[in-house]
Amino acid sequence: MMDKTLLPGLTLQELEDYVKALGEPGYRARQLGDWLKKGTDFEDMRNLPLSLIGKLREASIARPAGILSRQRSQIDGTEKYLFELVDGHTVEGVLMRYRHGLTLCLSTQVGCRMGCAFCASTLGGRLRNLMAGEMVGMAALINRLCQPERVHNIVLMGSGEPLDNYDEVLRFLRLITSPDSLNIGVRHISLSTCGLPEEMRRLAREGLPVTLSVSLHAPNDTIRRSIMPIAHKVSMDELLSACRDYAQVTGRRVVFEYALIQGVNANNSHARELARRLAGMLCHVNLIPLNDVPERDLRAATPREVAEFRLTLENAGISATVRREMGADISGACGQLRAQYLKNPLIPTQEETG
Ligand code: SAH
Repeated sequence: MMDKTLLPGLTLQELEDYVKALGEPGYRARQLGDWLKKGTDFEDMRNLPLSLIGKLREASIARPAGILSRQRSQIDGTEKYLFELVDGHTVEGVLMRYRHGLTLCLSTQVGCRMGCAFCASTLGGRLRNLMAGEMVGMAALINRLCQPERVHNIVLMGSGEPLDNYDEVLRFLRLITSPDSLNIGVRHISLSTCGLPEEMRRLAREGLPVTLSVSLHAPNDTIRRSIMPIAHKVSMDELLSACRDYAQVTGRRVVFEYALIQGVNANNSHARELARRLAGMLCHVNLIPLNDVPERDLRAATPREVAEFRLTLENAGISATVRREMGADISGACGQLRAQYLKNPLIPTQEETG
C-alpha cells in the first residue's frame, strides 16, 4: 500500500538504524525523533542538514496524517477531526476535555468489518488496517495542536476493531507509551473491542495492561446475535471467560460498554439478566445512550430507562455509570463524520475552524 517508510512508526533504535543506513551519524535519530513526536514535517526540522532531509524525503514520510476538517463543540470544547491519510483514505479522531486531562480517541482501521447493526463505522466494510505510524502520527499532531496542554489519555474507540489489527495496534501501544515518544501512561490507555477472546488473552500477556473495554451491548446470546454478528462466532460464555482471564492476568477491571437501544436491550429484565451474568466479576458497566444512526432503524432508550437500568445494576451490586455525552452539537456516533464526508466531500462537515 505504502512503499515509503512511516517514520513515526519506528522506535528510536529503528530510527537510528534507518539514518545510519542512509550514511548519517546515529545521533541524528534522536533529533529526528524529537521532531516526529511533535508532529513536524520535514521542512520544519531545522537542526537537520538539508542533505539528510533530502534523503529522508525520498524514502520516508514524517507526517502520515493531515487534518481535513476540525470542528469544536461550543458546549464542552470537544474537538472532532477528520484525518486524511497518504493514500487519500479518511478516518476520524476526537479530543475530549475531561477533568482528568485531555483524552484522544483514535481509529484503528479505515472502516470496520465487524458489522454491528448500530455502528456507522462498519457501513462500507473494512477498507484497510491503519499502521502504527499513522496512529502515532495522528496522536503527535493533535498533541501539538493542543499545546500548552498535552494529550493525557488515549482511547482506541474510533472506527475499526483494534484486535482485528493486532500487530499494528500493539506496535502503536509500545511506541506511544515510550518515553522517546509521547510517553502516555499505560494506565491512561483504553482499548475497546467487540470481543475477540484469543486476541484478548494474548493482549493480557503482553505486559501492557491497558484498560480493556468490551462492547457487550446485550445480556444474552440471542439479543447479542441480533445486533452484533461476532456473537454468532463467540458466545457470551466464551467472551466473559476471556474477560475474567484478562482481569486476572493484568489485575485491571474490565469495562463493559452497553449502548441502550429502545425495544432491544434496555428494559428492566435485561438489566437483571445482565447483573446475573456479571455477578462476581472484577468489572464496571458503562451505559451509553445510543447515538441514533439514521441509516439504521435503531433508537436510543429514554433518559428514564437509562437511569432505571443503571439503578437495577447498582442494586444488584454491579458498578455502573452513564457515559456523559460529549460534543453533542458537532455530530453523532462513530463513523458519522466520515460517512457524511464520503457522501459529499465538497461540503465542509459543519463549521471548519482548522
Ligand atoms: N470495534 C471496537 C471499538 C470501536 S466502537 C468495539 O466494538 O468496541 C467504540 C464504541 O462505540 C463501541 O462500544 C461501540 O459499540 C460503540 N458504538 C458504536 N456505534 C454506536 C452508536 N450508534 N451509539 C452508541 N455507541 C456506539
